Amino acid sequence: MGYWILQCSECRLEWKLYVSFPLKKEFSRIYHYCPNCNKNTFHRIIDYVEE
Ligand SMILES: [Zn+2]
Repeated sequence: MGYWILQCSECRLEWKLYVSFPLKKEFSRIYHYCPNCNKNTFHRIIDYVEE
């Protein structure tokens, strides 16, 4: 199982999104809940890591 490293565009926090499937690489950013901001924000997709 791999995970995505996402960076919140508002607080700059980098965190791991564990998913069982790779998101499409062509998405440069996604709208997702940020655990630090406590709300949905845009996230930059840093990398996908295979474990
Ligand atoms: Zn944030």
